[in-house]
Amino acid sequence: MGNLDQNRAYEVAGHFRRLGVPVVLGGIHATMCQDEALRHADSIVTGEAESVWPRVLEDARLGRLKSRYEGGRAELANIPIARHDLLAGRYALGAIQTTRGCPLNCSFCSVTAFNGAYYRQRPIEDVIREKHVLVVDDNLIGTKPEHIARAKDLFRAMIEANLRKEWIAQATINFADDEELMELAAKAGCNGVFIGFESLDPGKLLELGKKFSLMKNRDFRASVRRIQRHNIVVVGSFIIGLDVDEPGIGKRIAEVANWYGIDNLNALFLTPLPGTRLWDTMKSEDRIPLNTFPEDWKYYTLTFPVARYKHLSPNDILREMHSCNATFYSMPNILRRVWNSVWRRRKPALSLVGNLSYRNNIRMGLKAHDNFRRQVGDRLG
Ligand code: SF4
Repeated sequence: MGNLDQNRAYEVAGHFRRLGVPVVLGGIHATMCQDEALRHADSIVTGEAESVWPRVLEDARLGRLKSRYEGGRAELANIPIARHDLLAGRYALGAIQTTRGCPLNCSFCSVTAFNGAYYRQRPIEDVIREKHVLVVDDNLIGTKPEHIARAKDLFRAMIEANLRKEWIAQATINFADDEELMELAAKAGCNGVFIGFESLDPGKLLELGKKFSLMKNRDFRASVRRIQRHNIVVVGSFIIGLDVDEPGIGKRIAEVANWYGIDNLNALFLTPLPGTRLWDTMKSEDRIPLNTFPEDWKYYTLTFPVARYKHLSPNDILREMHSCNATFYSMPNILRRVWNSVWRRRKPALSLVGNLSYRNNIRMGLKAHDNFRRQVGDRLG
């Protein structure tokens, strides 16, 4: 159970408990909000479940479930291969995880709190056996030379296994610094990378923990271009609502993202998620007005402004988000990106479909924000 779907998890848990079926909850949210999760379940598993799961099942079978099990951090060499074959129905993507943990510990991100700062890698032969297409690692290539060497070995093994699968993954911008890495990734089926640029302000990047983005006097436009030369799509993520952000930030982000030349822009509201440093800071500063939990978790999707922002009122920040999206996804800008893809022979159809579907999502987002304003506007202050 992640931070973003807890209410649905509680709903499903309630349904089964009413039927007399014992319910165990686990995942990031249950780990960070243990007492809350326990009110909706018979038992919770904190941390990574692999080491304790057989014991949980045995205890459930014998009717002696404990209220908490501490999973800690798993040894990735010992985790079982996921049973994708048990999924019923048609899924466009199957997910695999090849690493866990991230040493960067960005202030808004719960990965380090949940999976630890130590970057752990699964044995390459286990990853190859999974044969699925969406790599859900939080940082596929890691930060150190040995991490990158292992990523290259993984890609070589994927090429050798001839999986014929296309995949996308999250990575840090240092992906662009190694030609061999990008070439191997592309040959192994990498179609796109999701990169968190987060802020236009170097000082803020340092504060967020994104030191990596500033190393080597990074030229983001050149980095994006180097990745795209391997026919890999770049989706860039930016945060709106940082303490440095003032009115006008939405348009500026869109213009800079256009200048970087990224294929898709994903702008998100700064959101304090439980377990993060940002949560602790904002809570201590009394900047989290939507705090009637679990009901308010439904707004913690990064697509609603749930906090108080330093220079932006609730109306301002919604306006900035709309201006950012309207600028980046204007028809002239979409057509320019598609034309660039044709010119550079880089999957123009994918670019068109991707941009139009983002544009469509944004239209739905506008309606959701109107409802949000009506439902909680008075509580945002
Ligand atoms: S945002 Fe990315 S780089 Fe930062 S801690 Fe989370 S996973 Fe690591």
